[in-house]
Amino acid sequence: MKILNINKIKINTKDVFTQQISKTAGGSPINLTLLVIKGKKKGPVLVVSGGVHGDEYEGPLTIMNLYKELQIEDIYGTFIGLVVANVPAFESGTRCSPIDGLNLARIFPGNINGSITEKIAFWMGESLIKQADYYIDLHSSGSDMEMPQMCGYVIRDKTNKAFFSKKMAEVFNAKVTWAHGDSGEGRTLSFARDHDIPSIYTECPASRNVALEDTVAYLRGVKNVMKLTNMIKGEYEGQPSKIYLKGDGNTDKSIKATTSGFFIPNVQILEYVKKNTVLGKIMDLTGEVIVEIKSPVDGIIGLRRLLPTVNSGDNIFLLADKISDE
Ligand SMILES: [Zn+2]
Repeated sequence: MKILNINKIKINTKDVFTQQISKTAGGSPINLTLLVIKGKKKGPVLVVSGGVHGDEYEGPLTIMNLYKELQIEDIYGTFIGLVVANVPAFESGTRCSPIDGLNLARIFPGNINGSITEKIAFWMGESLIKQADYYIDLHSSGSDMEMPQMCGYVIRDKTNKAFFSKKMAEVFNAKVTWAHGDSGEGRTLSFARDHDIPSIYTECPASRNVALEDTVAYLRGVKNVMKLTNMIKGEYEGQPSKIYLKGDGNTDKSIKATTSGFFIPNVQILEYVKKNTVLGKIMDLTGEVIVEIKSPVDGIIGLRRLLPTVNSGDNIFLLADKISDE
């Protein structure tokens, strides 16, 4: 595995880079596709990744569209788009890799001698995220969950470079901005946090298809970040988020299934709920309600499960505090 040296990319480059990470058991190469533009003028390195989960398509399409639209002469610095990070998962149209079953968003910093997904994480961390001045990870809520179109960041104090993540999220102009107290572990954003790299991630509601409206918003958002960081010129486009959410304490209030069964949600995404509101129910296969899920606090539904098949311990809701309407 060869680690990329971004500094060594020649100025005045607009090109497709192919990086072999590993091989399948049958000997086929597992390649990552990078769309790279290094302008003639000096500036920062922006890394944008899509397809960390294989069944999320707005990120990859946004990166392809950005690569078509951005011209060498317009760019100060280097744009690197990793179109699809978890290629085996993309090939099978699944969230996780069919080869080792791993979720690429839970295993950072990865392992150079590990399984294929662990190798991808290692390569991404060393070659892209660590070398970035700014990092954007484009997700969608995927097949099983629903989230609003949003841009999220991890709250850092002013002594950290990554404090700037807040500014990046705010100019992204997604429908919702979400400030998290923590990013969890093993994620692209926790890796970026550990290396103090300003970083944001996005979500949108699409499930196993491409929502063009969200792709347009993602493209506009990445370009706004490039304007913020003086990589391209121009005014910000779009409208600031109307809804600003904040995670409570160390983690957002994640609600997990306490039993397995057939799950039906009772509330909509971004709905405001009071403590003890019934958020959904889990039934057995006779239709008998085994458990009603009640909200432990007042909050906003930031994520809800759509997939009825549920196992004890699965995430079914995420609640956030609302900071403001404007
Ligand atoms: Zn994802």
